[in-house]
Amino acid sequence: MSRISVLGLGAMGTALAATLVRKGHSVTVWNRTQSRAKPLVSAGAMIAATPAEAVAASELTILCVVDYAAAGAVLAEAQDALRGRDLVNLTNGTPREAKDLADWAETKGAAYLDGGIMAIPPMIGDRGALILYSGSNALFERHKPSLDALAESRHLGEDPSLAALYDLALLSGMYGLFSGFLHAGALVASSGGKVTDFLPLLLPWITAMSGTLPDLANKVDSGLHDRSVVSNLAMQRVALENIARASREQGIAPDFIEPMLRLATRRIAEGHGSDDISGVIETIRRQT
Ligand code: NDP
Repeated sequence: MSRISVLGLGAMGTALAATLVRKGHSVTVWNRTQSRAKPLVSAGAMIAATPAEAVAASELTILCVVDYAAAGAVLAEAQDALRGRDLVNLTNGTPREAKDLADWAETKGAAYLDGGIMAIPPMIGDRGALILYSGSNALFERHKPSLDALAESRHLGEDPSLAALYDLALLSGMYGLFSGFLHAGALVASSGGKVTDFLPLLLPWITAMSGTLPDLANKVDSGLHDRSVVSNLAMQRVALENIARASREQGIAPDFIEPMLRLATRRIAEGHGSDDISGVIETIRRQT
């Protein structure tokens, strides 16, 4: 069993620390608001007075705070203790933030692994939880048994920015799904329908449409958006326009659908109305 320190005891940091304690590790915790550590101390964790004391207590430190500004503030207090230590940062942020923090950690003599948690706190330590990692492979291999106690662990490569990039890509898929669900629900509710009654229609429809993703992914990777097209973009643009118009008629905000309508309109104006909807990615890629 390893000595592991956890910095940051919000909902996620607490779940990480509690799981490590439960699985028999020797865990030291620190949080800006110290009172949040109490339940963990009762469960067997040790409490550190400062971030530096927590880092010094263990070969591996896991950091999980709200954002990179907070991560920077916590690590600034611990920088003198970082030399020769292993740091895993599970704070959500951008690829650039991850790369910058990895560079900073290197100047302090710490090995750095970045991570993206694809789970909510109650899932930590259970099947179904996934954590994406990128950065030092040596660190990953050294601590894989401990990291596996938290979730399935997947290392994406030595580039520390990859975990953040893939984390945000997966979240983009999730928020697309939630946006679609909320807009569909608003349309149904605008005529007095119940969203719970609508779900038996929506869920199989979304499942069926998910089945088109491998074909669209092939078109994206090959750049060949005009092959075996059964639902061309010009036709789909009419449907998007109809959703936007119907939303206004029903008195609900068209805000979810309008960005997709704009992108499709621009792609068609560039001469690609007979392509598949996959071609819209070329317009997205050129956005700055
Ligand atoms: P919480 O809001 O529950 O906790 C935030 C944590 O950040 C607390 O420990 C808080 O300390 C600390 N913090 C905030 N500002 C500072 C600061 N300036 N200096 C020091 N500490 C600070 O967030 P979560 O635990 O839910 O989220 C933590 C990370 O995990 C985020 O990056 C989030 O995106 C990620 N994550 C969360 C998921 C979730 O469902 N909860 C799912 C996947 C990832 P204090 O207690 O003192 O306020």
